[in-house]
Amino acid sequence: IMIGMVFGILLGSVLKFIIGDAGERYISLGLFDLAIKGFFVDGLFHIGGAIFIASLKMLVVPLVFISLVCGTCNLSDPAKLGRLGGKSIALYLLTTAIAITVAISLALFFSPGDGVAIPTDATFDNKSAPSLVQVIINMFPTNPISAMANGNMLQVIVFSLLFGIALALSGEPGKRLGLIFDDLNVIILKLVTLLMNVAPIGVFCLMAKLFTTIEVGVILSLGKYFLVVLFALIIHAFINYSILLKLLANLSPLTFLMKMKDAALFAFSTSSSSATMPITLETATKKLGAKNSVASFTVPLGATINMDGTAIMQGVATVFIAQVFAVDLSISDYLMVILTATLASVGTAGVPGVGLIMLAMVLNQVGLPVEGIAIIMGVDRLLDMTRTAVNVTGDCMVTCVVAKSEGEFDQNIFNDMNAAKELE
Ligand code: ASP
Repeated sequence: IMIGMVFGILLGSVLKFIIGDAGERYISLGLFDLAIKGFFVDGLFHIGGAIFIASLKMLVVPLVFISLVCGTCNLSDPAKLGRLGGKSIALYLLTTAIAITVAISLALFFSPGDGVAIPTDATFDNKSAPSLVQVIINMFPTNPISAMANGNMLQVIVFSLLFGIALALSGEPGKRLGLIFDDLNVIILKLVTLLMNVAPIGVFCLMAKLFTTIEVGVILSLGKYFLVVLFALIIHAFINYSILLKLLANLSPLTFLMKMKDAALFAFSTSSSSATMPITLETATKKLGAKNSVASFTVPLGATINMDGTAIMQGVATVFIAQVFAVDLSISDYLMVILTATLASVGTAGVPGVGLIMLAMVLNQVGLPVEGIAIIMGVDRLLDMTRTAVNVTGDCMVTCVVAKSEGEFDQNIFNDMNAAKELE
């Protein structure tokens, strides 16, 4: 997967010089330009990447439904479900609040917005950010089939949990259907493993296409903002997670981070926690050693409500926009940003670019102009990829901590570095 990604990035970057936009094109091969663009970039790479993402997404709804029903009905102790839910939601919110606090502190220290001019044509349409109350009400489906058809993950999670609980309480019929769900779970996980086999090609196509279009010029002009977000993401993924993992579960951060590599690369190349979920679940159970009874709950939940990386971007972006528009924010404003961004992360869908839309909600809370979003939009693609990798790493970190505390953790799998190889 790593090789696929590196080759994709290299090829995409080289092609950019040939077929890129006027300012970034240095070589021309005449008619071949069109042929390269048509056949490779818009043809092979586009088709390969799109099929790959579609196949990942195809697995998400059945995987969440089946594995969550299995996980819930196999929980021996019903009180455990409440504890599991409480612990994971608390940890997800806590890690997000830590993430955004670190992000705001770093942004205040480095002042990325000082000296950046306000573009006059900045406009941003913020009508798509839902309110918090709406986010909570929307968790409950009126129609589970339409929730599944639309891929509304929170609704699918709520329905699957209720269905699993009812199954566990239904005696003989519940037992019979439970066995069928166990079998379905094996089959859907097999499908994930099969897809993993073609992942290097998929990742290669995605990267090759993306890097022919990425605009380096914009990134340079907003370099300081870009670097502060990147720096905060790195600190959170490598330092904060390591401390939390050691402190709360006494697990080796190094082993954890090494085993996270593939899932993080997937998240990076797809920019979607939701599409990466099949791989995250495999990583959590087969590489990290969390039992399916915990991971089947915490991973889909995390992919839907836990967005540490997104909160980091929102924290830095808020400070950045306040500085660009010369608005002074008070301590209570910053506390408000921490609170809103933590809750916004619950409502952020795990698909590309949504974090930027939810930023409108955070800016509104503290009275900053949402037009500010238009300024950072140009550099968001690469940051989206990176923050999605952090989002997914956070989901697995919390999964390990919760699984360990519930005694649903296989330390041997965690310690075994070959567990990774078997998966591949
Ligand atoms: N792309 C992110 C994710 O799927 C969400 C976002 O920050 O836009 O995790």
